[in-house]
Amino acid sequence: MKDVFPSLSRRLFIKAAALFGASAAITPSELFSETAGQSMSRRTQGRVPVSIASANGLEATRRAVEGMRRGDDTLDAVIAGVNIVENDPDDDTVGYGGLPNEDGVVELDSCVMHGPTMRGAGVAALRNIKNPSLVAQKVLERSDHVLIVGEGALRFARAHGFREENLLTDAAREKWLRWKERLSTKDDWLPEHGMEERDIGVLTGAEVQRPTGTINCLGLNDRAEISGVTTTSGLAYKIPGRVGDSPILGAGLYVDGKVGAAGSTGRGEANLLSLASFLIVERMRAGDAPTDACLAACRRIAEQTKMKRLRDKEGRPAFNVNFYALNVRGEHGGASLWSGKQYAVNDGEESRLVDSAYLFAR
Ligand code: ASP
Repeated sequence: MKDVFPSLSRRLFIKAAALFGASAAITPSELFSETAGQSMSRRTQGRVPVSIASANGLEATRRAVEGMRRGDDTLDAVIAGVNIVENDPDDDTVGYGGLPNEDGVVELDSCVMHGPTMRGAGVAALRNIKNPSLVAQKVLERSDHVLIVGEGALRFARAHGFREENLLTDAAREKWLRWKERLSTKDDWLPEHGMEERDIGVLTGAEVQRPTGTINCLGLNDRAEISGVTTTSGLAYKIPGRVGDSPILGAGLYVDGKVGAAGSTGRGEANLLSLASFLIVERMRAGDAPTDACLAACRRIAEQTKMKRLRDKEGRPAFNVNFYALNVRGEHGGASLWSGKQYAVNDGEESRLVDSAYLFAR
C-alpha cells in the first residue's frame, strides 16, 4: 500500500520507539501499514485465519482458528473459543468458577459483535448461566435489542433453553469468604482466630488487590470477515448489579467489518469513560496501525484519570487496562497502561503469547 505520509509515519515510529523502548511490540511494518485517509485494504497482510485474545486465550485462539479454517462463521468461531474459558472452573475471572459479587453471587457480563453484518449484542449481570457469550449471541439473533441485563437477561436465556446452574465453585466461594471475613474489623464476619486476638479481619498482601480478569477474542477469516467477543465475571466482589466495560459495545469490544476489531480487559470503570474499543477502531480507520491505536487509547485513559485516589505518587493511573486490536488486513497489536502484559495469537501454528506495548514501565 502506498505510504502517503512517510515522514510523519517515521517520526511516529521513532517517537514510539523512544517512548516505549525495545520491548514494545511495535514494528515499523505496523506503523507504516496504513496511512491517514485511506480506507482499509481488503487484502490481508498477515496470515489468515487469525485470532488474537487476552493472555488467557491461548486455547481460545487455537479453537477460533480451527473453526474458521473449516468454514465456521467468524463469530461462531470466536465464541466457541471463549466457551472453553467460560466452562473452565479454574479460570476464576470468566464464566463458571468466576469470582462472585460482594454477596457471593456470580454475575456475568458479555458482548459479541459480527463484522460482516454490523450487528452486536450484550448481556450484563447475568446469573446462573455459564456461557453469557452464547446468550449475547442469542440476543443478537433472536431479539430486536442490543443489551439485556439482570433478571430480564436470565429470563431471556431460560426462554431459549439455557440450563441454569450454580456458577459458584467451592474455590471461588472460599476466596470470596476470605475477602469478606477480612474486609473489616468492624463487621460481624470473622475469619478463624485465636482466643488472644483482638482486631480480627484485616486484608493483607495480595488480598488487598481485588482480582480482575476477562477474555476478549477477535477473529478474522480468509475472506477478511471479522468478529469479536468479550466475556467476564467482572470485578471480584463488586456491588451486585455493577456492570463493567465487557458487555458494552464500544467499551469492552467493538468491530467494524470494513476496518477491524478491538477489545479490552482491565479496569472497566476507566474504559467505560473512554469507550476505548470504539476509539481504537476509529483510529485504525484513520490510518493507525493496531498497536498505535491501542497506545492512543492508553494515553486517553491516562489523561482522563484525574481523581487522586486513582493515581500513583507520580500521577500515573494506579490500575491497568489492556487493549487488543486486529485489522481486516490481519495485522494485530496490543497495548496496556503498564508493562509486563502479553496477548495470545494464533495464525495457523501453535498459539503464542506476544508482548504488548505499554505506556509506563513498572
Ligand atoms: N474489564 C472487566 C470489568 O471491569 C474486568 C477485567 O477485565 O479485569 O468488569
